[in-house]
Amino acid sequence: MSTLTGQHALVTGGSRGIGAAIAQALAREGAYVVVNYRTQRDAAEQVVRDILEAGGGAEAMAFDVAEGVAVQTAVRDIVARLGKIDILVNNAGVSTDALILRTSEEQWQRIVDVNLKGVFNCTKAVARTMMRARTGRIINISSVVGVMGNAGQAAYAAAKAGVIGFTKSTAREFAPRGIRANVVAPGFIETDMTATLDQGARELYLSVIPLGALGTCTDVAAAVTFLAGPGGGYITGQVLHVNGGLYL
Ligand code: NAP
Repeated sequence: MSTLTGQHALVTGGSRGIGAAIAQALAREGAYVVVNYRTQRDAAEQVVRDILEAGGGAEAMAFDVAEGVAVQTAVRDIVARLGKIDILVNNAGVSTDALILRTSEEQWQRIVDVNLKGVFNCTKAVARTMMRARTGRIINISSVVGVMGNAGQAAYAAAKAGVIGFTKSTAREFAPRGIRANVVAPGFIETDMTATLDQGARELYLSVIPLGALGTCTDVAAAVTFLAGPGGGYITGQVLHVNGGLYL
């Protein structure tokens, strides 16, 4: 039997990139996956079709993780229909590159609202159903820049560092209820987010990654699936780095 059969997962930002790979990997392990997206409905529906064609179960659902009321409404709807949420993967994220002196308050606010407040909104919304079940797995996607910093990404790095502090607090607060909360911190992964890197930046990154390659979405999805499954049972409050040795 697959390791996640009978479980329900919510993957935020599941329409593309890392989130789509996570949704597919959890579904392959037997979980029913709610694939959240904000704008790209066609892409989210394609992820769902791929899962269904492979014999799994999934549905797409639009909401903006930065909007607390929208998140609460969506989670209430999922729990009313499916009964519970066993796995929450807070993956939705955005990055805007700008030097600190050129970062507007609006840019800062949006980065923090999606990458950090979004994690809080979704965690708060699913907490009650997980607490009732006295079990649950929360996996938050941070970034290597949340621990190393990066010139030109101060807002993004601050939000991703915040995700680590928030996750450690979640782990401590929810452990008595059987809920595990961990971080997966990817390095540089081939997705739309990194497709904009120019050749010079790409070569620079490759030169400092000991394994000599950018990671793939599948690499990140494997780490998330591990933490969501039986292997992650005694792990909470940890940061699992998936970065080819870029940060060690
Ligand atoms: P991506 O290809 O740009 O995809 C981002 C996903 O997030 C999309 O599904 C998008 O949905 C969704 N999203 C964005 N804003 C949202 C919002 N407000 N509410 C709900 N969904 C929203 O990104 P990615 O590269 O796969 O990154 C996924 C996660 O990994 C992010 O948290 C990112 O910070 C992190 N990460 C990425 C890398 C990397 O190298 N790529 C490295 C470290 C960490 P729509 O398309 O429908 O708008």
